[in-house]
Amino acid sequence: MSDRTRFDLDQSRIPKAWYNINADMPVPPTPVLHPGTMEPVTPEFLNVLFPMNIVAQEVCQDRWVEIPDPVREIYKIWRPTPMRRAVRLEKALGTPAHIYFKDESVSPVGSHKPNTAVAQAFYNKEAGTKALTTETGAGQWGSALAMACNFFGLSLEIFMVKVSYHQKPYRRIIMENFDAHVFPSPTDRTHFGKRVLEEDPESPGSLGIAISEAVEVAATSGGTKKYSLGSVLGHVMMHQTVIGIEALEQMEMAGEYPDVVIGCAGGGSNFAGFAFPFVHKNLTEGKKTKILAVEPASCPTLTKGKYTFDFGDTAATAPIVKMYTLGHTFIPPGIHAGGLRYHGMSPAVSALVDHGDVVARSARQNETFQAAVLFSKTEGIIPAPESAHAIRAAIDEALACKETGEKKVIAFNLSGHGHFDMTAYQSFHHGMLEDYEYPDHAVEEAMTHLPKVPGA
Ligand SMILES: *Cc1c(COP(=O)(O)O)cnc(C)c1O
Repeated sequence: MSDRTRFDLDQSRIPKAWYNINADMPVPPTPVLHPGTMEPVTPEFLNVLFPMNIVAQEVCQDRWVEIPDPVREIYKIWRPTPMRRAVRLEKALGTPAHIYFKDESVSPVGSHKPNTAVAQAFYNKEAGTKALTTETGAGQWGSALAMACNFFGLSLEIFMVKVSYHQKPYRRIIMENFDAHVFPSPTDRTHFGKRVLEEDPESPGSLGIAISEAVEVAATSGGTKKYSLGSVLGHVMMHQTVIGIEALEQMEMAGEYPDVVIGCAGGGSNFAGFAFPFVHKNLTEGKKTKILAVEPASCPTLTKGKYTFDFGDTAATAPIVKMYTLGHTFIPPGIHAGGLRYHGMSPAVSALVDHGDVVARSARQNETFQAAVLFSKTEGIIPAPESAHAIRAAIDEALACKETGEKKVIAFNLSGHGHFDMTAYQSFHHGMLEDYEYPDHAVEEAMTHLPKVPGA
């Protein structure tokens, strides 16, 4: 135990390899199925959207995968990120617990997302890709990939959900600053977008529609454009493990080992990135750390969804995977943690929840913002509303320790800052946030639209 409160690693300690949990999964992998035939997909099918070097990472079984030097060079801009002990928060709570957090908000665009954006841009450049397409909701993923594509000289088309394009201009301008081409989706640039606009010219768009547009542009480009996804897939989880690998070393510097490890979960990438290296210790070294994923009560994929085969997108054109899902027809309520509004969840995270290696919990909006405000008042950082779900759970774990007198060590991932989410904070301060809980009957209804996978 040290009386230091900040644990910084030298640049030489930027991890040299990512951790690939495929090597240690306690259950066999489930196949990825073609959305039309429902047969397992071939690498050639995935290669329409992703370069072969990334397709290979999806199925790779090596425990450690070397991080290419050009990627580590760019990581040097913000990595290693700090690990801090939240002593002022501990004091405010009056808890005997020790609370640590890994601070991914220090990246240039303010979240963990560049950890994979830079890697994906690198592999695409290596494979000869000239242009990428992607979608973005409020713009966190779009701004990370725009920065990465700019570094590697790739052109980038971003389909941004129309309502966010108009209501949240600042992240769009960040993307444009990095030379990305940003379009309000639905657009008339794709068949799917045109169809949506014919039916509803005033459509505000959705992440599902934007994904379908970005996928269509890549799939019909004759191989010149590839598609990039910021979460859910195995290679994305793996790229994010730099977070947890650094955190393990920083906890060692602090002279402690966490009893509880916490991350918020949308598609699962910041959670996996922080938690999987600790899951590795649980699975291979007999550690007993509780691994906790936290999601909004309004989008309760892990806590109310079903573990089953479903489409990755709303238009039912993306591959079918086995995951926790609220159903691909899930209509997201307008909550202020935009990054957590996905109907599905990373298949790897899903399998670990199903097997009991990861525990899931949900939090409502107001209690989440209460936690966010207490954290900002004590530690000075305004957290992203997404990250605040992890803070809520860390505070609840620390308050439980206050009851029992246990001196647990709690570590959470601060996935990003909330500097572009101040209207959400304003709504909270004015008592305007709703505690919407996604109803069971809506989950049951959506389950009637699941793909009918033979034998599943
Ligand atoms: C995108 C985002 C998330 C949610 O995505 P995951 O893939 O689940 O990590 C969480 N926090 C922040 C700050 C984000 O930008």
